[in-house]
Amino acid sequence: LLLNCWVAMAEAEYLKYKDPKQPLNVRIKDLMSRMTLQEKIGQMTQIDRSVASADVINKYFIGSLLSGGGSVPKKQASAEDWINMVNDFQKGALSTRLGIPMIYGIDAVHGHNNVYKATIFPHNVGLGATRDPALVRKIGEATALEVRATGIPYVFAPCIAVCRDPRWGRCYESYSEDHTVVQSMTEIIPGLQGEIPANSRKGVPFVAGKKKVAACAKHYVGDGGTTEGINENNTVINRHGLLSIHMPGYYNSIINGVSTVMISYSSWNGIKMHANRDLITGFLKTTLRFRGFVISDWQGIDRITSPPHANYTYSILTGINAGIDMIMIPYNYTEFIDGLTYLVENDFIPISRIDDAVKRILRVKFVMGLFESPLADTSLVDQLGSQEHRELAREAVRKSLVLLKNGKNADTPLLPLPKKASKILVAGSHADNLGYQCGGWTIEWQGLSGNNITSGTTILSAIKNTVDKDTEVVYKENPDLDYVKSNDFAYAIVVVGEHPYAETFGDSLNLTIPEPGPQTIKNVCGGVKCVVVVISGRPVVIQPYLETIDALVAAWLPGSEGQGVADVLFGDYGFSGKLARTWFKRVDQLPMNVGDSYYDPLFPFGFGLTTKPNKVV
Ligand code: BGC
Repeated sequence: LLLNCWVAMAEAEYLKYKDPKQPLNVRIKDLMSRMTLQEKIGQMTQIDRSVASADVINKYFIGSLLSGGGSVPKKQASAEDWINMVNDFQKGALSTRLGIPMIYGIDAVHGHNNVYKATIFPHNVGLGATRDPALVRKIGEATALEVRATGIPYVFAPCIAVCRDPRWGRCYESYSEDHTVVQSMTEIIPGLQGEIPANSRKGVPFVAGKKKVAACAKHYVGDGGTTEGINENNTVINRHGLLSIHMPGYYNSIINGVSTVMISYSSWNGIKMHANRDLITGFLKTTLRFRGFVISDWQGIDRITSPPHANYTYSILTGINAGIDMIMIPYNYTEFIDGLTYLVENDFIPISRIDDAVKRILRVKFVMGLFESPLADTSLVDQLGSQEHRELAREAVRKSLVLLKNGKNADTPLLPLPKKASKILVAGSHADNLGYQCGGWTIEWQGLSGNNITSGTTILSAIKNTVDKDTEVVYKENPDLDYVKSNDFAYAIVVVGEHPYAETFGDSLNLTIPEPGPQTIKNVCGGVKCVVVVISGRPVVIQPYLETIDALVAAWLPGSEGQGVADVLFGDYGFSGKLARTWFKRVDQLPMNVGDSYYDPLFPFGFGLTTKPNKVV
């Protein structure tokens, strides 16, 4: 009897979904059969960390959390601070009836960019110029380790937008105006998530355990094609154009096992993507056979109406019925939960739609091993900002630099510069500014200015590290012409560019380098032989100064490892980067992309001069 009793108890407690030996589908089915509507809706709910607590997560069965736009547990939080925060939240999820772990997501779009002392890699615009998918894959691997070092298993990256107009404030988040370059860079996905096993079914998400993270291809679809590059606006293009320019990157992402896809704020021919059932349920889930989960953007369903949030119940109805599985709410979660409950209970949304969403979310959580290892430990903390990752970032900087001009004519190249010179001038607002070098989405959403924001090497310090010990380096941010002329400089290096921005704040109709940048170029290049290094998220107006400039380098937004710039300027390595974007002459030519019949660029797509390194490395 005792034995029978024991067997009966053991059977009652055996929960198939908790058994990693059970097949994935069996686990999902078992768990779903036990879930109430409230538990299912909770899984579809993603809230911001600033409104979360273990109690809230427990009470509403919250399935996911995020750090939106640089929301951190505390200023300069350490890896341990992050782990503690994430684990505290996780305990709230684990103490629910079914103990379903929550998944925490963050924007790690150029390294683990919200986190103090993480390695900051070049933004995608620079990575596109490397034309080196294997390198980008390694960046994915390093980013996964740094993100996991802080206890986080999910990143809202890569951005696979095909930016067709540099006036768009998110252009630097895009690898290229050309979809084939973007497609090749989806190689970052196996870097982030791990190599998908050869025999696995295509379309099924894949994340190889605790040193990898779930990735998110964003923003589906056509985000980079809006009129005049206005953020979150309307992309006017026929279906053929949409499918052949903006869609192919999603195909490659799915082949590479991407776990999630984020919907774009933008519209396609007047229809908000967050309400586009044809493209979400029809194309993404049915035609492309994507089996991971679809996540909304931040308050993305609110913006289905104008003004946003004008009729939230309607937004929930159209967003969920369009096929979105998880909603990044991120604050008013009770309104969402009540609204969705009402819509299901009143047959506006079929339970089959809820089940599809929850199945996909659970699939990702099971596949990545969250049920087995929901809590983070400190075993990876040394990965954050490690020397190895900084070396990788430095290599990426070197390969991303595009040499646009080298000498007044081909016979008199200025680069590479000699390390030995009597005295050189370094000038420009961006020469000694780590924040400017990193751009938006660094420590804060809009980025920052200055050198104390995190750790890294500015271009000025990199130059000082690189030149011969007898070479005098004089730094003057904005010298006047007389000063330049009256000193006996061998040459000058001018570093100017855009100030950090993110999303709509970066939309620009003029694309000029802010003053005093152009003035610095004129003053310095008017007085001495000069190399101009442009730090920017996109091509900017340069034609008016091109005559006076002796050598011109596009350095994009290189990130924390400014040493990579000096490595190439002084010839330890050669220039190899190629434009992944067309460099326009005048803004009135825009939009202008490779292949356009009216193509008349200053520097064409694919352009990039090369130099030979001084020594073989
Ligand atoms: C951006 C997304 C980002 C999200 C979360 C939104 O404003 O469009 O790219 O992942 O915020 O921070």
